[in-house]
Amino acid sequence: MKPAAFRYHAPKTIDEAVALLAEVAPEDGRVLAGGQSLVPTMAFRLAKPGHLVDINGVAALKRLEVSDGKLCIGACVRHAAFHKPVCDGPLDKFLSFVVRYIAHFPIRNRGTFCGSLAHCDPSSEWCLVMAALDGELVAQSAKGTRVIPAREFFQGIMTTALREDELLVEARLPLLSDDTRCGFYEFSRRAGDFAMAAAVGIYRLDDGGKIIEPRVAIGGVEPNPRRIPEAESALAGEVPGDKAFRAAADAAMNAVDAMEDAMTSAEFRRDLVLAVTRRALERADASLRPREAGEGDRAAQQRGGGGA
Ligand SMILES: Cc1cc2nc3c(=O)[nH]c(=O)nc-3n(C[C@H](O)[C@H](O)[C@H](O)COP(=O)(O)OP(=O)(O)OC[C@H]3O[C@@H](n4cnc5c(N)ncnc54)[C@H](O)[C@@H]3O)c2cc1C
Repeated sequence: MKPAAFRYHAPKTIDEAVALLAEVAPEDGRVLAGGQSLVPTMAFRLAKPGHLVDINGVAALKRLEVSDGKLCIGACVRHAAFHKPVCDGPLDKFLSFVVRYIAHFPIRNRGTFCGSLAHCDPSSEWCLVMAALDGELVAQSAKGTRVIPAREFFQGIMTTALREDELLVEARLPLLSDDTRCGFYEFSRRAGDFAMAAAVGIYRLDDGGKIIEPRVAIGGVEPNPRRIPEAESALAGEVPGDKAFRAAADAAMNAVDAMEDAMTSAEFRRDLVLAVTRRALERADASLRPREAGEGDRAAQQRGGGGA
């Protein structure tokens, strides 16, 4: 099938883009970023926008830089940008590990970080990272700009706090101190598929070797990714290792309200939470050690590298 007819707009500045959105939003005007989610849905006529506001010519939206201790990721920054160093410290290593799980390279070369957040698929890796690190999203319209915390931005399956006339201008992630351990693990049936369950585990150690500032977040299981306080409490003050990781994974499994679909039962998804949480924490534990040859899972290697 071919898409339904639409009018195409190519603004050159953010002000032009938001002025256009204000005008065309009532006629189902949409932002076109990488097009990797929007264009297929248009081709199937699941979406029939009356107007497309193509932001790819807006140079200001290509910003990818550190400012005030945060990594600022503009709306036109592609997934593939994270295959190269983007900042110092563990955040860079973490993002460069996670990106390899998003689709396949041609899609990563075109799709954008912010497009994933605006699209808000429950299994999106970047939505999970934003939830785990309590990132911020900057939304701009002709009426002004607002900063939305990640926990308020994701509001359901493919539903966000963005208003129809708002452009997601950039996302911001906090830089992580050098001693932060970060791990990510996802399960999908084939390399490149959306995850059936994914987990992030992040923590630091105090001087006595006990876990402080734990973060555990789960994606692909509930309508939106979120931090799991029960799992974080199970980690706090514990020595990292199998006992603590299993307790946290158990807590995460018991805390989630897993979705069910034609392919995957809620029970199976809950079981996956147990596995992905423990493995994400094991990867966090190993993340500050030099990587050994052959370490890492096969799926990650298929996508272009070893595990962390
Ligand atoms: C085969 C395949 C496999 C995939 N696998 C994965 C995967 O494993 N993990 C994953 O996370 N994604 C996956 N994707 C989706 C891919 O990551 C997309 O790039 C991403 O979801 C959307 O980004 P985009 O820049 O292409 O957005 P677009 O397709 O251009 O837009 C998507 C939606 O977001 C809106 N939008 C985009 N940018 C903005 C903005 N700045 N402000 C306001 N609204 C905006 C658009 O209007 C549209 O409604 C896959 C896609 C394909 C085709």
